[in-house]
Amino acid sequence: MKGLYIHIPFCEYICHYCDFVKSIPKNKETVDQYLEALVQEIRTYQDHFDSIETIYIGGGTPSMLTLDQLTYLFESIKVIKPKEYTIEVNPESYTEEKGLLFKKYGINRISLGVQTFNQKLLKYLNRKHKNQQVFEIISHLKTIGIPQISLDLIYAIPGQTIEDLYFDLDQVQKLDITHVSCYSLILEEKTYFYYKYLKGQFEQMDEDTEAQMYEIVMDELVRQGFEHYEISNFAKQKNYSYHNLIYWTLGTYIGVGLGAHGFVDGKRTYNHRSMPKYLEDPQKESTYQNTETLLQDELIFGLRKLSGVSLSQIKDKYQIDIFKTYPQLYEKIDLGLIKIENDHLILTRKGLFLGNQVFMVFI
Ligand code: SF4
Repeated sequence: MKGLYIHIPFCEYICHYCDFVKSIPKNKETVDQYLEALVQEIRTYQDHFDSIETIYIGGGTPSMLTLDQLTYLFESIKVIKPKEYTIEVNPESYTEEKGLLFKKYGINRISLGVQTFNQKLLKYLNRKHKNQQVFEIISHLKTIGIPQISLDLIYAIPGQTIEDLYFDLDQVQKLDITHVSCYSLILEEKTYFYYKYLKGQFEQMDEDTEAQMYEIVMDELVRQGFEHYEISNFAKQKNYSYHNLIYWTLGTYIGVGLGAHGFVDGKRTYNHRSMPKYLEDPQKESTYQNTETLLQDELIFGLRKLSGVSLSQIKDKYQIDIFKTYPQLYEKIDLGLIKIENDHLILTRKGLFLGNQVFMVFI
């Protein structure tokens, strides 16, 4: 499969944990100017349009664009007929008109940034929406016939209790959606939380409670009928994120927009992260990947999937026996972090939480 990722680097406010490429735009003209450059960049890939099967418009907050701006962007890619077409939406910037516009242009999957249903924790994260909005939006999306709805959740937020987490997962059940992405809060540099941490005013959740929460997330979502198919992702009735599966299987994807990266024709592409540079010439770098790096990526991303990586496929593709190339894998098997099942190397339940200890082997 081939995917197209489009980055919208604007937000109405900045969440305290976020290290994505984004900023609050000065005015409407700033966004218009960016969109013009973005559409120009998209056009440079028009030879690929026929073969693109997934589009993912992420950010930032794509849903904060005005109806006109959204229309301008959608028009530029309307000749592409993807199987999966996703846009990220933040509840406070959704309107019924935008929902109808999404539908009109063939968007069939919404990724909704909710993070938690605890209003106090939302405020702590600097998120502005109300729970009621989430319920109304999902009801509207279902009414207009956008069938695939994914919710982003965060757990291990300082101050979050086990009861809070169960409450969040109960709301997921009530919403009856097709997909959940659930990540633990990571302290990233250059964020407000990191600044607080340096001042001794931010304390991360202890690892035992975080592990307990992850167990609860896995058990509860599976009990609700979701399939756990990637470390942090859960889907009902095979409504996976096919776009993300491209990343996890080292497939081809084009990345456009500020700070976006791609993997096309064997080359990794990296766009500028600075707006003035991007506006001048989007791409910063485009490099062929050597076999060693490809193998590394294939193993690290592949192991994120619960189906793991096929040992025979790796052998055929790279002409190696991965246990000879990475003998430290035996130690990880002894530690109970990975196992072999039906020719596949997979993370164990313990390994799902401690995946980084396995990934280190390949770096
Ligand atoms: S988490 Fe999303 S909405 Fe919040 S600042 Fe980051 S990109 Fe913007």
